[in-house]
Amino acid sequence: MATATKRATAAQRFWAKVEPRDRDACWLWRGAVSKSRRGAFWLDGRQVPAHRFAYELAEGALPAGMKVVQMCGETLCVRRDHLVARPVEDVDCVLRRGEEEAKA
Ligand SMILES: [Zn+2]
Repeated sequence: MATATKRATAAQRFWAKVEPRDRDACWLWRGAVSKSRRGAFWLDGRQVPAHRFAYELAEGALPAGMKVVQMCGETLCVRRDHLVARPVEDVDCVLRRGEEEAKA
């Protein structure tokens, strides 16, 4: 089961870069950060968003057309119970609204 072993190693690598805090606090990613201030985790030679990887570790592969977002609003948070999968259209709509509010 080479694939399972590789996966376990990736998970260990991942959690080594997370700062777990109190039971009620966010778990912050301490690895590389992308331009959009999201955690960036290298997996099989490509970069995946850290929070998405955390979600997929717990729930399995994310369905197409879905995106993982933090309900807590902390873009570096990778805590499973702060993450929720949303349809991409919804997320983009929320992000656009946020940008418009920021400009106003
Ligand atoms: Zn959080």
